[in-house]
Amino acid sequence: MTPGPVPVPSTVLKKLALPMIHHRTPEFEEILTRALAELKTVFRTKLPVMILTSTGSGAMEAAIVNTLSPGDEVLCVDSGKFGERWAQIAESYGVQVHRHKIPWGEALKPKEIEKILRQCPSIKAVLTQVCETSTATLHPIEELAQTLRQFPHCLFMVDAITAIGATPLAMDDWGLDVVVAGSQKAFMLPTGISFITLSEKAWKAQQSARCPRFYWDLKREREANEKNQTYFSSAVGLIRALEEVLGQFQGSGLNKSIRRCEKLAQATRLTSGLLGLEVFSQSPAPSVTALTVPANINGEKLRDHLESQYAISVMGGQDQLKGKVIRIGHLGAISDQDMLATIKALGLSLRDLGSTSLTTAQIQKAVQLCKKTLRQK
Ligand SMILES: *Cc1c(COP(=O)(O)O)cnc(C)c1O
Repeated sequence: MTPGPVPVPSTVLKKLALPMIHHRTPEFEEILTRALAELKTVFRTKLPVMILTSTGSGAMEAAIVNTLSPGDEVLCVDSGKFGERWAQIAESYGVQVHRHKIPWGEALKPKEIEKILRQCPSIKAVLTQVCETSTATLHPIEELAQTLRQFPHCLFMVDAITAIGATPLAMDDWGLDVVVAGSQKAFMLPTGISFITLSEKAWKAQQSARCPRFYWDLKREREANEKNQTYFSSAVGLIRALEEVLGQFQGSGLNKSIRRCEKLAQATRLTSGLLGLEVFSQSPAPSVTALTVPANINGEKLRDHLESQYAISVMGGQDQLKGKVIRIGHLGAISDQDMLATIKALGLSLRDLGSTSLTTAQIQKAVQLCKKTLRQK
C-alpha cells in the first residue's frame, strides 16, 4: 500500500516471466512500435512519447538537460521532496533556480506564480509536480497551464509521475511542454523505465539548449524510435510488460484506473476520520493519502507495527513530516480486500500503540464504511 513501487497485476507479472528476446529483432520492434503509439493516447498528445531506461528522476534530468542551458533562470515549485528534486537537478547543471516555497500540504496558487513571472521576465521555465507524493497534495495544473499562456516564452514542465493514470491530464489540450512519468507508480510495473514527452516548443528549445547530455539526448532517442528502435539497448522485459498495461488502459481502461484511484482515496479519507486520523493535505491527491497520526503516537512506530504485525506496507513521512504522518498509496493492483485489511489493521495498530479511546465497534464501523464506499458506483 505504498505510493510506489505498487502491486503489479498478475497478467503483467506473467509477461515479466517470458524468455528474453533480443531488442534488435522484428518481434521486439513490433512490441515497441505498439507501445510508443499507445503511450501517446495515455499522455493525450500527438507528439512522440519516449521510453527511457531509468527511474522517474532520470526522466526529470532528461527534461532539464534537453531544454535548458547553464545560467538560464527557472521557477521551481517547491512544495515537498520532489519539488526540491527539480531544483537540485537544475542546479547541478548550473541553471539558476528561483524556489517558490509552498507550505507542505498546500496546493500552488496560479496567481502567485503569475506575479513572480511578471516580476522576473527572465524566467524561462516553470517546473512543478502534478501530485507532490511526499505531502500527498494535488496541484491545479490545468489552471496553471491556462495562466502560463500569458507567458509564451516560458516552458511548463510537469512531473506527472504519480499523476498519469491517477488523475486526468491532457498534454496537448492543456499546453504542457514537458511531461514525465515513471513505471513503478500508476503504470503498475516494477521500477526501471520512465517516460517523457516534449511539445513543439520544447523541441525547439532542445536545439539551442546547451546543458551537457549524452545518455539523455532525446533527439537521438526520437530518431531511433522513428526506426522502431531505442537508441541504447531496450528494457525488453519491462517494455513487454508495459504493452500489457497499455492494453488495459485502452478504451475506457485509463478512465477506470483514474476512477479506481479516486475511489480508494475517497475510502481512505472517509474512514480514517473514524479512526481519529486527519487528512494532512489541504488539496488531497488521488494517488496517495497522507494521514496525520495522533500526537501521542509515533508515525514511524505505527508504520513498522503495520508491517511487522499485519504485513501491510505503508510509507512514513519524510523530513519535517517524519513520525508525524503515514502515507497510503492508491496506485496499482489494490483489491477491495487489500483496502479493507489496511483500514482494519490501521485501527488495530493505533489501539495496540495507545489510542485507548478507539473501540472495537469504532474500528468495525470504519471497515463497514470503507466497504460501502468501495461498492458505490
Ligand atoms: C516517485 C516519484 C519520482 C521519481 O522517483 P524515482 O525514484 O526516481 O522513480 C518523482 N516525482 C514524484 C512526484 C514521485 O512520486
